[in-house]
Amino acid sequence: MTLDAPFIAIVGAGPAGLAAAEMLSAAGARVGVYDRMPSVARKFLMAGRGGLNLTHSEPLPRFLNRYGAAEARLAPALAAFPPDALRAWALELGEETFVGSSGRVFPLSFKASPLLRAWLARLTQQGVSFHLRHAFRGWSPAGAMLFDTPQGPGEVTADAVLLALGGASWPRLGSDGGWVEGMRALGVPVNALAPSNMGVTIAWSDIFRTRFAGTPLKRIALRFGKTLVRGEAVVTASGLEGGAIYALSTDLRRALGHRSITLHLDLRPDVDEKALAARLATAPQKASFSTVLGKNGGLAPVAANLVREVTGPVRPDAPSLARLIKALPLEVTGHAGLERAISTAGGIAWSHVGDDYALAGLPAHLPPVFAAGEMLDWEAPTGGYLLQACFSTGRAAAEGIKARLGIGPEIPGAGTLAEGSPPPDHPPA
Ligand SMILES: Cc1cc2nc3c(=O)[nH]c(=O)nc-3n(C[C@H](O)[C@H](O)[C@H](O)COP(=O)(O)OP(=O)(O)OC[C@H]3O[C@@H](n4cnc5c(N)ncnc54)[C@H](O)[C@@H]3O)c2cc1C
Repeated sequence: MTLDAPFIAIVGAGPAGLAAAEMLSAAGARVGVYDRMPSVARKFLMAGRGGLNLTHSEPLPRFLNRYGAAEARLAPALAAFPPDALRAWALELGEETFVGSSGRVFPLSFKASPLLRAWLARLTQQGVSFHLRHAFRGWSPAGAMLFDTPQGPGEVTADAVLLALGGASWPRLGSDGGWVEGMRALGVPVNALAPSNMGVTIAWSDIFRTRFAGTPLKRIALRFGKTLVRGEAVVTASGLEGGAIYALSTDLRRALGHRSITLHLDLRPDVDEKALAARLATAPQKASFSTVLGKNGGLAPVAANLVREVTGPVRPDAPSLARLIKALPLEVTGHAGLERAISTAGGIAWSHVGDDYALAGLPAHLPPVFAAGEMLDWEAPTGGYLLQACFSTGRAAAEGIKARLGIGPEIPGAGTLAEGSPPPDHPPA
């Protein structure tokens, strides 16, 4: 890096912004990363609490399919930095990964903090400067970026800007979607942000809620319309959440816009209805309903009580009970909001995002502005697809910036001219 190298301002120190910072600093650009929070990548660290599902091992065509309507736009970025490349990158940083039984990919440590620590060390070594507690507020009439900082208002002028401000889920981690109105005011359309991979609300009885909130429902299948999903869910005080629910979240959100809906739960997906009815029919006449559900139906207490939520005290005959266990109707009245959702649907409309991730239609006085990560309009189920797309689009936007400013190819020894900015707050061990 030389002192007259182009200066790139990256706003948002999540996986998308940091991925871009790594590429650009390695290519010799001067890079400043700005974030409103006192420490970087808080949502990435939160993902680490669940084991950090980095990506997924399924074949790329199937993988790409998970992005639905955004597949065609995301495919080049994902093909350029696919799941295997992400695993190799993590290994280079000292974090070996493995494929779990579901095909999901995790670091052996099941944590985000060791990977983040090694990554930040690399970024610092490559000369990236970090500016925390810097909240981006918009643009000056001359095209400088405006920040609120602990020292008061500040201005930053850059040769190119990458916005990687995230979506709006779990706003206390830093990304709250506060950028939407500013973006629209500049003429860039943003499709309304909405929760994705979120729980649903169901009116449990007080007894069921008190006894089972927090209990997992393992090895179940959920059906909504024509879609059947196998997996797990967790009973919450207000309904259900977890992988199987999240996998249906796009369809559920759309349907729930107007009315309550019925979700069907298969509590014994591995047993067919006839065989189950036969087993239930062998229960002695005097056996209690709970015993029939547990012993003959093979249901865990939470599942057995879920059936009783629907039947009430009336005990159906064996064929009807088998039918219920295989397709238990649950009335869903709504879904959780953004504050509890894993990710965000909606975002900057692709019509205004170039193939190089530059934003189109911005006023001429602004420098070239690019965007990456969850700010863009895509959604995907849990399973590693979210982080993978953030890494891949961050890197694709960096390639776009490099091409636009004529940066690179890689300069050996990049980062030897560090600017002396304080290193970022390190993540907890
Ligand atoms: C509980 C939870 C668990 C998850 N687990 C997984 C998982 O296991 N696997 C997976 O693939 N995905 C997971 N995700 C999703 C994943 O973490 C996100 O998709 C990803 O972090 C988004 O990356 P990003 O860089 O686009 O945005 P973010 O990580 O949200 O980063 C955006 C950054 O921008 C900053 N910012 C926002 N506005 C401003 C502003 N005005 N000025 C300055 N800075 C600003 C924020 O402070 C933030 O640091 C999980 C999410 C949650 C909430």
